[in-house]
This record gives sequence, structure tokens and C-alpha cells, in this order.
Amino acid sequence: MRVSVDPEVCYGSGECALRVPSVFTAVDGLGAVLPGREETGEDPQVRDMAERCPSQAIRLH
Ligand code: SF4
Repeated sequence: MRVSVDPEVCYGSGECALRVPSVFTAVDGLGAVLPGREETGEDPQVRDMAERCPSQAIRLH
């Protein structure tokens, strides 16, 4: 399962990069998935972060 951040929805709270730095980072003030980490959507930490994201910008697909 893939994970991505919708830049149209993310408002850059930075929580994903803080809580799960092995998968998320910040680019130009917005959350983003680290290169090569797009297939981590099954990871419980990633799924949990998708639920916690305050703008629901983290997509699992
Ligand atoms: S937690 Fe959500 S709103 Fe905050 S930076 Fe990450 S994707 Fe954006």
C-alpha cells in the first residue's frame, strides 16, 4: 500500500515528520514522503499518522 501527502490539503503542521521521521519529511514547509518510502502504507506507524494528521492530508492507497 502506498502513502502520499496531498499538498493541496496539508497545512504544514510538521507532525508527520516529527512523529515518523523514517517515512515523512518536510519540503517547502509542507509534509512529504521521503523518496523510496512510498510503499510503507501498511506500517502501523504510518497508518496511525494518517489518522492523526490534523488536516487528513496523508493518503493511503
Ligand atoms: S501531519 Fe498532516 S498537516 Fe501536518 S505536515 Fe504532515 S501531512 Fe501536513
